[in-house]
Amino acid sequence: MPDGNWWDILPRRVYSSLERVETSQTWYDVYRLHDWLYAIYEGGQYDEALMYLVIGDERAVVVDGGTGIGRLDLLVEELTDKPCFLLLTHTHNDHIGGCKDFDEIAVYDDAMSRESAAEGLGRDKMGEIIEGDNVIREFPSGFDPDSYYAPPYTVTRWLRDGDRVELGGRTLEVIHTPGHSSDHLCLLDRGSRYLWTGDLFYTGGVTTYLPGGDHDDFVESCRRLVDMMPHYEVLLPAHNEPLVEKEMMVELMKTAEDVKAGRLTEYRESRSVAVNYDILVRRYQFSRFALITRADL
Ligand SMILES: [Zn+2]
Repeated sequence: MPDGNWWDILPRRVYSSLERVETSQTWYDVYRLHDWLYAIYEGGQYDEALMYLVIGDERAVVVDGGTGIGRLDLLVEELTDKPCFLLLTHTHNDHIGGCKDFDEIAVYDDAMSRESAAEGLGRDKMGEIIEGDNVIREFPSGFDPDSYYAPPYTVTRWLRDGDRVELGGRTLEVIHTPGHSSDHLCLLDRGSRYLWTGDLFYTGGVTTYLPGGDHDDFVESCRRLVDMMPHYEVLLPAHNEPLVEKEMMVELMKTAEDVKAGRLTEYRESRSVAVNYDILVRRYQFSRFALITRADL
């Protein structure tokens, strides 16, 4: 981590230029990007989870579930009267928290996501989200930190590469993009020319070393998304800030390739210790993002 507190860089500049929407769910900062697209941001927690409500003519979807500290279902009710389901870009702990709020959930079909749905994540794997300085905002009423965990959840649609998620007048295409995790997907809307990047790209420390991660897969996924660049203009990442220029995908791909080839010699090495791993990682820092990989690629 860079020196200082994680929140020293907040608020991120982009948010001052967006239209803020007040809701009763004050855990979430909500921004209207279009009449059909909202960004839902957890600015009070270290991961800065960023979700999106996408509203079609027939139904709506929330992309990613965040930490689950707030109530996404109650929030969505205030923003749309369309029936709404949840779609996860992958099943890491800071993405599945909101599953408790939805009956309909779509996830990429993979051994990792099957296990996540069947077992949820216990306190041992969710607890870090609310530990110590990781939360800088008051918990919402109704949230009990002592009983915080992610219960098992029922996936009502198992997604595959190339699947189309039809919302009515708007279609999201599923692109399987392993690397950050094996069950990771991105979503492409050719109509609006947005690409939801999940955790494959955001303007923070992007990782390939977490459970389910694979750096070679990550390079391949980046190449595939760069090849698809004619079909999108703007990136909608799952953390930190929305509306990032698509050219960052080229920089990310080159960085991932350079790291793999051992061409980058400037990095910070540290041990990353968590519930089910304890490994040496290298952090390659750039102006808009960092890439963090195993040291022994
Ligand atoms: Zn993740």
